[in-house]
Amino acid sequence: MASRKPSRAKANLRGSSSKPNGSKAEPRARPAKPVAVKAKPVAVKAKPVAVKAKPVIVKAKPVIVVTKVKSEPKAAKHVAKEPLEPRAVFAKLHAHHADAHCELEHRSPFELLVATVLSAQSTDVMVNQVTPELFRRWPNPAALASADVAEVERVILRTGFFRQKTKSIIGLAAGLVREHAGEVPRTLAELVKLPGVGRKTANVVLGVAFGAPEGVVVDTHVQRISQRLGWTRHTDPLEIEQDLMHAFAREDWDMLAHVLIFHGRRICTARKPACASCPVADHCPSAFVAENVGRKPSRLRVR
Ligand code: SF4
Repeated sequence: MASRKPSRAKANLRGSSSKPNGSKAEPRARPAKPVAVKAKPVAVKAKPVAVKAKPVIVKAKPVIVVTKVKSEPKAAKHVAKEPLEPRAVFAKLHAHHADAHCELEHRSPFELLVATVLSAQSTDVMVNQVTPELFRRWPNPAALASADVAEVERVILRTGFFRQKTKSIIGLAAGLVREHAGEVPRTLAELVKLPGVGRKTANVVLGVAFGAPEGVVVDTHVQRISQRLGWTRHTDPLEIEQDLMHAFAREDWDMLAHVLIFHGRRICTARKPACASCPVADHCPSAFVAENVGRKPSRLRVR
């Protein structure tokens, strides 16, 4: 007899709790449902850390550029080979510059006075270029005294400092008309009262126009060469003038300035004196070492 096996389907119908051997079947573990864990967002508030950077102060050291400061001129440092009295040295220089004269072109004391005022901070050559037009338009003190300021400024423009110079020459022309009947006075005391006229200008006029200087004209050439030749140890023009007035006769005062000016332009220049061709090199205490004698000291520059 064939035994009939219950089909699997029937067995399932009999109940899942029965095992075929009759013992109770373990209930099947259901798969665990996935648990969604929602992590709470944790807000981490970082405290702001204030970093205070210390200000860095860089103190730049001032750069001091020191150019060589030349002290007082040392005119008498070197001994001249054949020392000579100032008058003998001047005689040699005059012989060498026999053509020395005032190079400001003029036809009257009035023109010389005006031209000399214009020559300040300018050159004789430049002044000679503007004065023909100036004196053509305003030929005498009365005309210049009533001149239009702007017109005069335009004519003398190239001499530099033209506004101040215009004021001076119109002012001095008015002074000549008002105080001296349109004539140029013959004394230093009267001349220096005119606008723009100083001791140097007055002595140019007194020496060149009237042959009666009351002092020596000390310009940059006269100053430098007097120091180089050892005629003065001073640097102030007034003190240099006093030394020259004591060393030379009055009749030489006017020509002394012209000769030294010519010598300064031609041979004893400020930067490169041509001592090798100088007629008084044997008598000059600064010969061949003169570059730093009688020159203005260099400036101390701070930047
Ligand atoms: S050129 Fe030379 S030697 Fe002649 S005066 Fe000048 S410094 Fe003296």
